Amino acid sequence: MTKTVTLIKGDGIGPEITEAVKTVFKAAQVPVSWEEENAGQTTLAECGELIPSSLIESIKKNKIALKGPLTTPVGKGFKSVNVQLRQIFDLYQNVRPCVTTEGVESRFKDVNLVIFRENTEGLYAGLEFFDERLQISDSVARVTWEGSYRIVKAAFEYADRMGCKKVTVVHKANILKSAGKLFLKAGEEVSKDYPHIELDDKIVDNMCMQLVIKPQQFDVVVATNLFGDILSDLCAGLVGGLGVVSGANIGDEVAIFEAVHGTAPDIAGQGKANPTALLRSAIMMLHHMDLREYADAIDHAINETLKHKEQCTGDLGGSATTEEFTNFVIEKIKK
Ligand code: ATP
Repeated sequence: MTKTVTLIKGDGIGPEITEAVKTVFKAAQVPVSWEEENAGQTTLAECGELIPSSLIESIKKNKIALKGPLTTPVGKGFKSVNVQLRQIFDLYQNVRPCVTTEGVESRFKDVNLVIFRENTEGLYAGLEFFDERLQISDSVARVTWEGSYRIVKAAFEYADRMGCKKVTVVHKANILKSAGKLFLKAGEEVSKDYPHIELDDKIVDNMCMQLVIKPQQFDVVVATNLFGDILSDLCAGLVGGLGVVSGANIGDEVAIFEAVHGTAPDIAGQGKANPTALLRSAIMMLHHMDLREYADAIDHAINETLKHKEQCTGDLGGSATTEEFTNFVIEKIKK
């Protein structure tokens, strides 16, 4: 049975990379139909709304969306579109797998880890206070037991499902004695239900050092919002950069899969965009939808394509256009 997914084309290179996903899905005969919506700069210009209500309705109905990168105009008082979507749908898990790929240059050859970043609270809770007279700013990192428990639980459930041996809880409990300790305590509490999985904990500064020295020691990593944000990009850098890593924002009801890179305005509309990150996010989406065989077929085709530098886009040292890269992927699906 065909399932409907909301497609958010996005700004900048968004339309080019979402087109690539549509083309690949069609070639692989994935039983998904798209309901096209948009947000960000494009809809702000078209209808004066950063997040049109039709988009919210579409996601509410379909429960699953694939999203290209979005621009939130800076300095005009707009709240980030991405942050708003996470809050509207309570997408508390930000999941970022980071895996090395043959053919993609990276410092390490055998990294295979996944980061679970808490996505709705911490320093992103919007609790910011500025005293104009004294020129003092307070940004409050709200960490709750419920918020910590559910993200750590999601990380352990994933580790259990995937047969991973270790979950690393990242914190700064030595300094953030309230918020950090609460998060760590949630880790200790949840881990009691998973005696076969090792609970590891690392202070965030040590974690950064360990990641750049020996990232192979990590399996599943879970962190509060800001630490998770920083670690996610650090880990993307370990496996070839933002152009090749996937991401998902998952809640109990709704899931939005996204390219984690930005809108790349410098190359937009020139056929230079690498669609790998969004394609891999679409593969995560297919797993989420239990369409595993389609996910595996597309994953295999992408990995085979990335082995040949001449078939890759400029950011990976190749000279292929977005369309050519997409066609190379499709050729390998058909084999
Ligand atoms: P934004 O303001 O939306 O964050 P940005 O240009 O500041 O955009 P990115 O979009 O992440 O940030 O781009 C950083 C650099 O990486 C740019 O030079 C961009 O061209 C390149 N880049 C990002 N994504 C891709 C991609 N999918 N394919 C090729 N190059 C990319």
